[in-house]
Amino acid sequence: MVPTMGPLRPILILLVLAAVWRLLSMQFKRRLPRPEQRRSAPRMGHCAHCGEFVPEEEGLHTPQGEFYCCPAHARAKPPPP
Ligand SMILES: [Zn+2]
Repeated sequence: MVPTMGPLRPILILLVLAAVWRLLSMQFKRRLPRPEQRRSAPRMGHCAHCGEFVPEEEGLHTPQGEFYCCPAHARAKPPPP
């Protein structure tokens, strides 16, 4: 016998439903991919020769892991420190 359960029961059910709904919506949001955001902000590369920032699609990577803005700078050596 739980005498205080009577009037509280609808509120408890609402609270549980709200918690379940929040968990479900959070999981749904996390699963949604966001390709538009990635497209609008391209990854920028830092040229190892002249220091210019260019989109990584327009520059080129060397097998050594360096990034250059153009083939001419890739052929040239990085400036001495
Ligand atoms: Zn450059």
